Amino acid sequence: MALSRLQGIAASPGWAIASAHVLSEHALTVAHHHIAGVEVAAEQGKLCEAFEAVHAELDVLSSDTRHKELHALIEVHRQMLTDPVLYDAALDYIANQWVNAAWALSEQVQQLASVFEAMDDAYIAERAIDVRQVGQRVLRHLAGFESAKPMAVTGDKPIVLVAQDLAPADFAQWQHIALAGLITELGGQSSHTAIMARAQAIPAVLGIAQAAQRIMDGDLIALNGSTGEVWVNPSAEQLSTLQSLQAEWNAQQAAALGQVQQPAITACGQSVLVMGNIEHPEDMPDVLAAGLDGVGLFRSEFLFMGRDALPSEAEQTAAYTAVVKALNGKPATIRTLDVGADKLLNAEHAQDSAASPNPALGLRAVRYCLAHPELFVTQLRAILRAAAHGPVNLLLPMIASASEVQACLHLLAQAQASLQDEAIAHGTVKLGVMVEIPAAAIAIETLLPLIDFCSIGTNDLIQYTLAIDRTDAAVADLYNPAHPAVTALLSQVLNACGAAGKPVSVCGEMAGDARYTHHLLSLGLRQFSLNPSQAPAVKAAVRAWTR
Ligand code: PEP
Ligand code: MG
Repeated sequence: MALSRLQGIAASPGWAIASAHVLSEHALTVAHHHIAGVEVAAEQGKLCEAFEAVHAELDVLSSDTRHKELHALIEVHRQMLTDPVLYDAALDYIANQWVNAAWALSEQVQQLASVFEAMDDAYIAERAIDVRQVGQRVLRHLAGFESAKPMAVTGDKPIVLVAQDLAPADFAQWQHIALAGLITELGGQSSHTAIMARAQAIPAVLGIAQAAQRIMDGDLIALNGSTGEVWVNPSAEQLSTLQSLQAEWNAQQAAALGQVQQPAITACGQSVLVMGNIEHPEDMPDVLAAGLDGVGLFRSEFLFMGRDALPSEAEQTAAYTAVVKALNGKPATIRTLDVGADKLLNAEHAQDSAASPNPALGLRAVRYCLAHPELFVTQLRAILRAAAHGPVNLLLPMIASASEVQACLHLLAQAQASLQDEAIAHGTVKLGVMVEIPAAAIAIETLLPLIDFCSIGTNDLIQYTLAIDRTDAAVADLYNPAHPAVTALLSQVLNACGAAGKPVSVCGEMAGDARYTHHLLSLGLRQFSLNPSQAPAVKAAVRAWTR
């Protein structure tokens, strides 16, 4: 078989060398036939049963997974199943056109997917893929198929999975198989597939055009998820070089892991704080296992997403308190709700967002909270109540102007006063802002007098500085954390905070990418906040740094 080297997007670090298992996602051939009027009810019944079967399938998948992000993503598919544009419209189509259920459904899937595809916003347009994936699931049931199970893979020999795309729900099905690595044709660095691969520490290379055609089942694959390189059927000589590189990488990882509990001190003796990014209180064991210096970013929106009703003050208080208590005196940085753009609360919010001409520049994060003060004050009260149990930093996302911080301070005072009046136990918080809009970085001097600390959100700062949609695979190669404009903004914020004596951290993905650790240290950064799985490599890079 031909030997080739392919280049894709480096999506999840690490080496994999194993046989390929190619998922050929042939679209189901949809039978088209007319039915008699008397058959309409029976055909509608079949559609109803297939939808119920997929609901049950998604229930099993979502209860089966340890990963909350995956749960939220499966939830998106579940909401699509209940969308009247899909379900009710398909039932009506059967009744009005007298056609079989599969035909009616495929018409509606096509229509709904085209509506999404026509949207200017890349994230919303990408939801067409979700509609098609959900449609395929229902069609499989209509065709009398079992749900897609990895039946072809037996034994516990690890494989490199090669697919056109891997939907969140499909990912859950594959987590019982020993996945050495992953290659897909679609997706970019911040696509759902990349997020899942990183969360599960599976080396992954995405965005390899026609991978499922260029790689055959059983081909020997070597991939480097840190560089995006893939070798198909390497020669014996090449294989031995790649195996040594893999062994070297694994040894570095093992050494870094062995020292993860040790503090991060540079070779020249400077202490660096390494904190954790979390999405749920359940992530705390990982923070503690990685010996981190606190939580630098609690993305509280994950408590709010994928459900119909908002979490109550009591529920939020319990979640924030659990994190504060688990940290046992180390600080918990709780970011207030950051919804909008690619993080949507529920179906109604998704509709509002779709109506926005540009959701990434619209009513997102603190703008949404200031527009919904009741929801915001409830969250502020819950955070203040958790602060009765230990040190809490309150972090405001997407701040562009001092007036927004002042409006938040006003609501924070209101929340404090109401707790006081009601004699409910609460504590005080330090107030900080995310610097993730270029305006906040450039005008940092106007914000510093109002706040106690800053956290730089490089994910959005890079997106807004370079005008690169962080979710769009087509421009993924232009998303450059080391761009001189980004460096200039980082430097400006770090210097201004240093001069004002205000702590500053970086909590975007850049902080967890060991390739940038020395760059950030040389700019003066001494506080990192990252996914706990990234701590060993970043701490090792800190220890290796000499000024
Ligand atoms: C960021 O923008 O860098 C950040 C940490 O926030 P999020 O990724 O949640 O937008
Ligand atoms: Mg952000």
